[in-house]
Amino acid sequence: MPEPVSPPVPQDVVARLKALLGEGGWSQDPERLAPKLVEWRDRWSGTTPLLALPRTTRDVAAVIGLCAETGTAVTPQGGNTGLVGGQIPQGEILLSLERMNHVRDVATLDDVMVVEAGVTLAAAHEAALAAGRRFPLSLASEGSATVGGLISTNAGGTAVLRYGTMRDLVLGIEAVLPSGEVWNGLKRLRKDNTGYDLKQLLIGAEGTLGVVTAAALKLFPILASRAVAILGVESPHDAIRLLARAKEETGGAVEAFELVSRLGMELAVKNLPGLREPLETRPPWHVLIEIASGEPGAAEASLERLLGAALEEGLISDAAVAQSEAQAKAFWALREGQSAAQKREGPAWKHDVSVPVSRIADFIDAASRTLEERFPGVRIDAFGHVGDGNIHYDVLGPAGGDARLHDDLRDTGAHIVHDLVMSLGGSISAEHGLGTMKTAEAAGYKSAVELATARAVRAALDPGRIMNPRVLF
Ligand SMILES: Cc1cc2nc3c(=O)[nH]c(=O)nc-3n(C[C@H](O)[C@H](O)[C@H](O)COP(=O)(O)OP(=O)(O)OC[C@H]3O[C@@H](n4cnc5c(N)ncnc54)[C@H](O)[C@@H]3O)c2cc1C
Repeated sequence: MPEPVSPPVPQDVVARLKALLGEGGWSQDPERLAPKLVEWRDRWSGTTPLLALPRTTRDVAAVIGLCAETGTAVTPQGGNTGLVGGQIPQGEILLSLERMNHVRDVATLDDVMVVEAGVTLAAAHEAALAAGRRFPLSLASEGSATVGGLISTNAGGTAVLRYGTMRDLVLGIEAVLPSGEVWNGLKRLRKDNTGYDLKQLLIGAEGTLGVVTAAALKLFPILASRAVAILGVESPHDAIRLLARAKEETGGAVEAFELVSRLGMELAVKNLPGLREPLETRPPWHVLIEIASGEPGAAEASLERLLGAALEEGLISDAAVAQSEAQAKAFWALREGQSAAQKREGPAWKHDVSVPVSRIADFIDAASRTLEERFPGVRIDAFGHVGDGNIHYDVLGPAGGDARLHDDLRDTGAHIVHDLVMSLGGSISAEHGLGTMKTAEAAGYKSAVELATARAVRAALDPGRIMNPRVLF
C-alpha cells in the first residue's frame, strides 16, 4: 500500500523558513539531502521541500512556531537509524538535529549529563567516560543514533535487563512543543512527584508531540570487571532457565543476555568478514552473556561459578569465555552483526516483538511450527535481547527462493506472528516503535479507550497535527 503524502508546502512558507534559519541553517542541495531521505535498509525513501538545520533551541522554536502558524507539517530526524520509517519525510519539512550536538554539562555529584538532542550515543558514552562515569544504554547503531531519536523511540538495546530502556534513563527533557513554545523540563531529580510527567509523554512519542532539543541523562559508576562468554544451549527453553540461574548466581550482575540461533551464527560467519564460529560443537542455539561488577575480579568469578553450575545441571553444552577485550568484541560482533548478515541473504520479514520472559521459548516454538507448515522452506532467525523478553523474530525465504513466497510472507506472516505474540500477553513493537510501518496494525490491537485517549492527548498538544502527521494514532 502506498504511504500517504503530506500536502505541498507553499513556496512563501519555505522562503520564510529559510530567512529565519539564515545561511548554513537550511539546505535544498539534493546531495546533502539524499542520505537523509532513505532508510538504511532501503525500505523507505522520501521527499522534502526543505532540510531545516537549526543550531539552537531558539531556532527550533522559530521553525515550529512558523509551521504551527501556517499548518505546515514537520518530520524531526536524528541519526536516521530508526527501523520503522518515522524519520523519513513524505513532503514535510525535514528538521534535522545534527547541528545541536553539544554536551552542555556533566555533573558528577548529581550523576547526570545534560546533552543536546543531536549528540550521538557514542559521543554521549565518551563524554560520560571522560568524567569517570558511564551511560549504560547500548545498541549497535550507537555511532549514528542520537539522544533525541533514542528518547523519541524509547530505545532499548542490550542492557535493558539491568538498566531499563530510555524511559528509565532520562531525568529531564527540554523540548519545543507543537505550538512552538519551549518547555524547559531539564530537571536533574530522581524524585519529582508533582503531577503529570510531561517528559514521559515525550519519551516514545516518535516526534508527534514536539521536538526534543536536550535531555538530562542518568550516569552510573564505571564497572571494574567484565566477563563475556558465548554458551551453547540445546533450546530457547534451556536459555530461559539459564537466565534465571545466571541472575541468582551473580546477584543481578547480568549486564546482557542475548540469543543467537544456529542460522544466525552461520549467516554471521558466512557474510561478515573476519568472524569465526566460537564453539566447535556448533550447538543449535547460543547465548551471549555479559556479567559486570563494580568489584575487580568479581565478574570473572561469578561467570566461572555460573558455568560450573550450568554444566553440571545440563543447562549448557559448551562454553567459550572471552580471554581478552578483542575476543569480547569479536563475540559481540557476532551478535550485533545479525541484521547486517541477513541483509546479504535477500528480504527478511522482521518482527521486533516481546513476550514475558517465561513465554519466550513457547513463542519461538509455536511461531516457527506454524510458519514452517504454512511456508515450507522458510528460514527462521530468532535472536536478540531475550534477557528482557525481546526477540527479533526474522523470517527469511528459502535460499534463492521465489518472490511470491516473500510477498505472501510479508502479507500474512506478520499477522500470524503478531496474533501469537498478543495471545501470549506480548507487544508487536518491543523497542523500535511504530513509525509508519506498524501504526495501522498496532491500532488494530489496541482498545477503543486506549486509542481515544492517545488521540485526545495528541489533539490537545498539536491541534493542527503538524508534528510527524503520518506517525502514530
Ligand atoms: C544496526 C541497528 C541496530 C539497532 N539496534 C537497536 C536496538 O538494539 N534497540 C533499539 O531500541 N533500537 C535499535 N535500532 C533502531 C534505532 O537505532 C533506534 O530507534 C534509535 O533510537 C533511533 O535514533 P535516531 O537518532 O537514528 O532517530 P531517527 O531514526 O532519526 O528517528 C527515529 C524517530 O524519532 C523521531 N525523532 C528523532 N529525533 C527527534 C527529536 N529530537 N525530537 C523528536 N522526535 C525525534 C523521528 O521523527 C522518528 O520518528 C537499531 C538500528 C540499527 C540501524
